[in-house]
Amino acid sequence: MIIKGLQKLTLLDYPGHLACTVFTGGCNFRCPFCHNASIVLGEGSENYSEEEIFGFLEKRKGRLDGVAITGGEPLLQKDIADFMRHIKSLGYKIKLDTNGSFPEKLKELINEGLCDYVAVDIKNAPNKYSETVGRLGYFPERVAESVDFLMNCGIEYEFRTTVVAELHMAEDIEEIGKWIKGAKRWYLQSFVDSGDLISSDMHGLSTKIMNQYIEIARNTYQVLNFVVYNYTTTIYSCLCHNLHKM
Ligand code: SF4
Repeated sequence: MIIKGLQKLTLLDYPGHLACTVFTGGCNFRCPFCHNASIVLGEGSENYSEEEIFGFLEKRKGRLDGVAITGGEPLLQKDIADFMRHIKSLGYKIKLDTNGSFPEKLKELINEGLCDYVAVDIKNAPNKYSETVGRLGYFPERVAESVDFLMNCGIEYEFRTTVVAELHMAEDIEEIGKWIKGAKRWYLQSFVDSGDLISSDMHGLSTKIMNQYIEIARNTYQVLNFVVYNYTTTIYSCLCHNLHKM
């Protein structure tokens, strides 16, 4: 495992849990708006051994109940299953963040009971994926396979989209909404410059435009429950819906 970071406490990364966050190094995408460039590119960030992580988790038993594994792209790690098995053996629940491009690996982990919650980034409408993930000619069939599996496998999950002025138009939000219609949760998040970006020319949206996009998402997606969380630097819009109750 390449482990590039450990956040010892998070109230946000794993909904409903007191958790820590483990950051794995490397990614197969190069999203220009990526806010963890040093982790993705492996520049200048420190390394943690698995023993350090397990030792930390041993000590926090009873005080934390969850581990969020994020990146980079965690499913790039060859020994991710062993790592998650060990965390499970310590009694923790696991939330996995992934870009969805490794559906076989994702299915294996879920089928073995190693994931309790999965968050998948839906980067953009399918025809805009290539420029949004920084990979020439990339079309998200494999992401779609992960999306389909998650929507039918019975575990908790969310989809989320970081909206960037240079990459997302209103019709893209509509396309994504159609793509994932029927999903349990979709979070729209306006891009915020972390200062650790892959590209320096990215911008977030004004609250006014973001609200327009949220309305589009709500209409396309037939949202029943709608919550806006305002943090100091980030707007999250939680689009929860359940068609079965309609
Ligand atoms: S945003 Fe996620 S998928 Fe994109 S480069 Fe960064 S870590 Fe990889």
